[in-house]
Amino acid sequence: MKENMFLKKIKYFFKSNAYALSVTACVILAITMISLTVANYMDTQDRIYEVIDVFVPAEEEALPTAADDTIIFELPVSDGKVLKEYAEDHLLEDKTTGYWQTHQAIDFSAQAGAKVVAVFDGTVENVEESMMDGMVITISHGGELKSVYKCLGNDVYVKKGDKVVKGQEIGVVASNLSEKADGYHLHFELYSENKLVDPTPYFAELGK
Ligand SMILES: [Zn+2]
Repeated sequence: MKENMFLKKIKYFFKSNAYALSVTACVILAITMISLTVANYMDTQDRIYEVIDVFVPAEEEALPTAADDTIIFELPVSDGKVLKEYAEDHLLEDKTTGYWQTHQAIDFSAQAGAKVVAVFDGTVENVEESMMDGMVITISHGGELKSVYKCLGNDVYVKKGDKVVKGQEIGVVASNLSEKADGYHLHFELYSENKLVDPTPYFAELGK
């Protein structure tokens, strides 16, 4: 009899509180689901960060490096084939004069009239006409870095003092006397602290 009364009381309790009990059960279930989801999300995030930690330094190392890591040049002519490389400590044959000499510049092959662009942001320091080299444009990039574009035609799109951005058209390729036998090309020089230096490491496309 006592047991029956106890069971009846329990049944009565559940019946009268069915709504509250089911709401409580739902809330507990919802909290459990949210906790599991959050825990799983945080675990995933941890693993993503672990992956990033592993791979980011490797990608940085793979990037081309130059004397200054932040400066990466755009090719001054769009097809950008190297016709004659930079030669400071070895001699190359100068087809025009027949002499073997150094070539502290990169010659990029180009069609007559091919557009020439600034390799990096800067200020036009000089535009001059040279009897041997055609129109010559010098752009200062700050930090004692200057790029010089030789063998240009009379169509020059910048003047001394102009600010230019990387990739901005400054002139066109034309014929010249000093390297006439090499055909149409751009003779590109780079100065660092008033000394001619090898521009190759500044071009991601050329690598080194
Ligand atoms: Zn040259």
